[in-house]
Order: sequence, then structure tokens, then C-alpha cells
Amino acid sequence: MSNGLMDFSVPEEAQEILDLTHKICQEQILPNRAKWDADEEFPHLAFEKFAEAGIFGTMFGEEYGGMNYGGWLTVLGIEVVAEYCLGVATSLGAVKLGALPIEHGGTKEQKDKYLTAFANGEKIAAFALTEPNAGSDVPNLSTIAVKKGDRYVLNGTKQWITNAGQADVYTVFALTDKSKGPRGISCFIVEKGTKGLSFGKLEDKMGIRCSHTRQVIMEDMEIPEENLVGLKPNQGFIHAIKTLNSSRPFIGTMATGVSMGAYKEAVKYARQREQFGKNIINFQVVNHMLADMLTKIEAAKLLAYRAAKYSIAGHPETAKYSAIAKLFSSETAVQVCNDALQLHGGYGFTKDYPVEKMYRDAKILTIYEGTSQIQKNEIGAYIIKDAKKYI
Ligand SMILES: Cc1cc2nc3c(=O)[nH]c(=O)nc-3n(C[C@H](O)[C@H](O)[C@H](O)COP(=O)(O)OP(=O)(O)OC[C@H]3O[C@@H](n4cnc5c(N)ncnc54)[C@H](O)[C@@H]3O)c2cc1C
Repeated sequence: MSNGLMDFSVPEEAQEILDLTHKICQEQILPNRAKWDADEEFPHLAFEKFAEAGIFGTMFGEEYGGMNYGGWLTVLGIEVVAEYCLGVATSLGAVKLGALPIEHGGTKEQKDKYLTAFANGEKIAAFALTEPNAGSDVPNLSTIAVKKGDRYVLNGTKQWITNAGQADVYTVFALTDKSKGPRGISCFIVEKGTKGLSFGKLEDKMGIRCSHTRQVIMEDMEIPEENLVGLKPNQGFIHAIKTLNSSRPFIGTMATGVSMGAYKEAVKYARQREQFGKNIINFQVVNHMLADMLTKIEAAKLLAYRAAKYSIAGHPETAKYSAIAKLFSSETAVQVCNDALQLHGGYGFTKDYPVEKMYRDAKILTIYEGTSQIQKNEIGAYIIKDAKKYI
């Protein structure tokens, strides 16, 4: 392992930003998260405060007015927000997700125009890849982009798009050359308000309910050719894969964030809940459940942090370790939130305690950005490829 890849230290200035993020979350998210969840209310208030405090800048480089320490602060900042509300963290993470194809493949002009606006919180982004019949099977997408003079005309529907309706800018994947399959996919920048662009109903989700999810519908929607990411057609699949490889580490820390939030709630409750004449934290079974939760969270953190460091360094095994981190941390979050609810007994089954929401929220982590089964497929492919080394 080369130098620096396992250095998880945080520069002093970055720690100050993380402390500020905690403070904003305590002041803005804690008192509102239950209401936002019940009403499916988009967390505009949190976004406004994040913009004022420069928190969006933690996801972008200095050249765009941000300060993300090469991406390291992105994973740590999102982890903090997820500890308070996975719905807010998902909406925030989707801004970075929508920006990543531009970061990976955009021209200088595209980067300057859009990344600067995302970094200062002026514009919200969304990433539109999935379709009704192309979920895990990404290459099966059917949205079409046809060149017409100096414009592209897009037709198709994107499914389950986080921030749809709220976002100002969408990175949309469409076929520009159907005969080439995945190699015929391009990525486009679509601005809200474009004629022919509309959104489906707000999805009534089990969890992360303040994060808005809708279809993105394009009907004879015309955009200028300069909105083709990188100005090169048929590069979209590469942009999508690079995006997912670099976003999975921060899905990993979203998972450790919500896990830590649930674990802390469980410890607090177990310390004060008395049964059989003593606080339940003193029953060894309860104490060992907490020990298992903490051990899994710490292991998930190390995997997610390593994947992030690999991604930042452009390490050749980034995809493998991102898949491992995403798989383990998301499944851990589901288990930890389940155990945290269990330790609250009947009270945990009500909305009087935040673990009920955390339990509902955590489940999405094993589904979006590639399901656990798809992560295992990816890891499995590396196992087969590497098998010859063991002979
Ligand atoms: C709340 C939410 C937010 C989302 N946000 C976004 C977003 O912002 N942008 C975006 O583009 N997409 C987004 N998605 C889409 C998400 O990434 C997909 O839902 C996910 O990739 C799974 O696709 P699917 O739902 O079509 O399930 P399917 O692909 O139909 O899978 C169904 C089941 O089959 C299994 N399966 C499928 N293929 C295989 C295989 N080859 N081997 C083994 N098992 C397999 C899956 O693991 C799963 O259990 C979001 C989804 C949700 C629910």
C-alpha cells in the first residue's frame, strides 16, 4: 500500500468546518427532522444554512470556490449530516452525485460555470441515470438524444431521481448511438425550466422522506450542443462508471453516519432505561449488542475511508474497494439501526424516538447506487480475475 492511503487524519481547518457542520445540524436538523419526515418536506432550511456557512464547498475543490481537501472533506462532511438525518444527507450527496459527471468529463467552461454554482450553494444538482426498465441493468436505458443542427433533442423518462423537481441542473444519460450499446451513451447537462422537461409525482417513500424523489420526463426537449458533457458524444458510460466509483465511498460514510446516530441513541436509552432494578446497559446481552454495533461501525468506517482515499488517489483498485465499502457499510447500517430500535423495546416502535425513522431511512442504503447484490457481483468479478494469483 503506497504512502498516505491509510492516513485518515483531518487537517485543523477541515476539523473546524466539520465542527461547524455538527453545530448547524444540531440547530437546524435535530428540531425539524421528524416534521420534515412526516410532511415529506424538502430541507430548504438546512440547505440555506449550509450555503451561508460554506458547507457545499466541502464537496468541491478550491478552484471552484470550495475546500474539499481533494475529496476527503466530502466523505467526512456527509457522514456528519447523515448522523442527524439520512434524508438531508441524501439530498446533499445528490448535489455532488449530479456534479461528478461534470467533474470527471466536463470542459473547463462547463466546470467553471456549474461546479462554482454548486460549491457556493447557489444551484442544486441531480444525477439522472436510472430508468423504469434500466435499474441495475444500466446499459439497458432507452432515453434517446438526437442531434438536430447545433442542438440535441431528448426523449425519455428517468426513474427515482433524487432532488428531481428541486434541482436546478440535471446530468442526464441518453443514447446517442443505439447501435453501440453502452458505448453509445452520452451525458448531458439539462437546466430546470427547459421546454419539454417535467417531473413525476413525489414518491411516497418508506424512509428518507425529506429527500425528494421523482421521475424526470423529457418530451422533445431541446438543449444546446454545448450542454454535452465534455463536448464529446458516446463517453457517458465512462462518466457514469467513474461517478459511481467515486460516489460509493461517500454512500459508505452516509451509512456510518446514520449507524453512529442510531448507536448513540441506543447507548443513551440503555443508560437510563431501568428494568429488573438496573439500567439495561448493565445486562451483558445488551452491552454486547452495543459492542457488536460499535465494532461493525468502526470496521465500516475504515472500509469507507480507505475507499475514499483510493478514489482520491486514483488507485487502480478503487472500484473493488468502493464496492466492498458500500456493501459492508450499508448492510451494517441496516443491522445497527435494527438493533438500536430493538434496544428501545416497544418505545422504539413509535415515532417518539428517532430510531424508528433511522431504521426506515437506513434501508435505502442497500438499494441506491447499486444494490448489495450488484456490489457482490462486482466484488465477485474481482475474485475471479484475481483467482489465478493463488495457484
Ligand atoms: C430513493 C431512491 C433514490 C434514488 N436516487 C437515484 C438518483 O438520484 N439517480 C439515479 O439515477 N438513480 C437513483 N435511484 C435508483 C437506484 O439506483 C436503483 O433503484 C437501483 O440501482 C436498483 O434498480 P431497480 O430499482 O430498477 O431494481 P432492479 O435492478 O430491478 O433490481 C431488483 C432486484 O433484483 C436484483 N438484481 C438485479 N439484477 C441482478 C443481477 N444481475 N444479479 C443479482 N441480482 C440482481 C437487485 O439486487 C434487486 O434486489 C434511486 C432509487 C431510490 C429508491
